Amino acid sequence: MSSSEEASSMETTTIDKDLHVTFAQMMYHLLPNPYESQEINHLTLAYFVISSLDILNSLHLVEKEAVANWVLSFQVQRGTTNDPNNGQFYGFHGSKTSQFPPDENGVFHHNNSHLASTYCALAILKIVGYDLSSLDSESMSSSMKNLQQPDGSFMPIHIGGETDLRFVYCAAAICFMLDNWNGMDKEKVKDYILNCQSYDGGFGLVPGAESHGGATYCAIASLRLMGYVEDNVLSSCNLSSLIDLPLLLDWILQRQGTDGGFQGRPNKSTDTCYAFWIGGVLRILGGCNFVDNKALRGFLLSCQYKYGGFSKFPGDFPDLYHSYYGFAAFSLLEESGLKSLCSELGITNMAANGV
Ligand SMILES: [Zn+2]
Repeated sequence: MSSSEEASSMETTTIDKDLHVTFAQMMYHLLPNPYESQEINHLTLAYFVISSLDILNSLHLVEKEAVANWVLSFQVQRGTTNDPNNGQFYGFHGSKTSQFPPDENGVFHHNNSHLASTYCALAILKIVGYDLSSLDSESMSSSMKNLQQPDGSFMPIHIGGETDLRFVYCAAAICFMLDNWNGMDKEKVKDYILNCQSYDGGFGLVPGAESHGGATYCAIASLRLMGYVEDNVLSSCNLSSLIDLPLLLDWILQRQGTDGGFQGRPNKSTDTCYAFWIGGVLRILGGCNFVDNKALRGFLLSCQYKYGGFSKFPGDFPDLYHSYYGFAAFSLLEESGLKSLCSELGITNMAANGV
């Protein structure tokens, strides 16, 4: 091995935590210009940044009170004039551009609060230690029921949109964090999720759709948050379960490619983010040791950028989304110096437990 080859292989054997902290800190202070087009999802981008710093054990770099106040400024207030059963949802807007000022009587007419933004808002608030019992959780929960469809799925916003497992997951995580399940008919949600398990064992975003890593995470994490799947179910003696576990495991284990990474579907390239979507499911089920973790680590390191962050594929430039899921995946791999992750909630265990 030449000295340059040795140097490059040296570079890729460890996660460079300090560089990743600098990368996340830069994003905390100013999102680069390419993220301008995603302004409508500002809270989601903020969740990636704040949760990254938490996983990287660097939450001291965050002004917690300022962050909490900023997140709270996205909340839609129901006020006393709005009936919670009027069909609207009283959660959080995704961005300032979807917030409109009230009329001359102080009444808000344009309520664009969204389940994904509300999930991200609550997750950030938990990370920075804000006491969620200070929120009007009853308004949020009971109005969320307006978004549930007859088949059990959820619409993300009261004026319409796709209904699929992504928003089922957001709804379950919101109820879990608020410790208030009045916002959903759990039995209907459970039936909808079970209908999304495909013939090959994975879950599609809607019943009958092709199995997909992200949808499978949403299904299993939701069932876990709702208490329908026990923790570490694969290591328990009783493998009876609502879902077809052996078939699911078979599908999951086939997602690891020859380069060690995970793919989201058959015949697709391996990609950093699936190390979390697939790895998170394995963690919930207690099956992390059924895959080649050393090879997975090697794949992730090949996506580590020299100035911090992770790319989707080896050798590409990093982006915030794949960087976040790279950090989350390394946490699942129990990398030293990183905080452990509550995989079903998408925040660290310390944030989830309010420590
Ligand atoms: Zn990806």
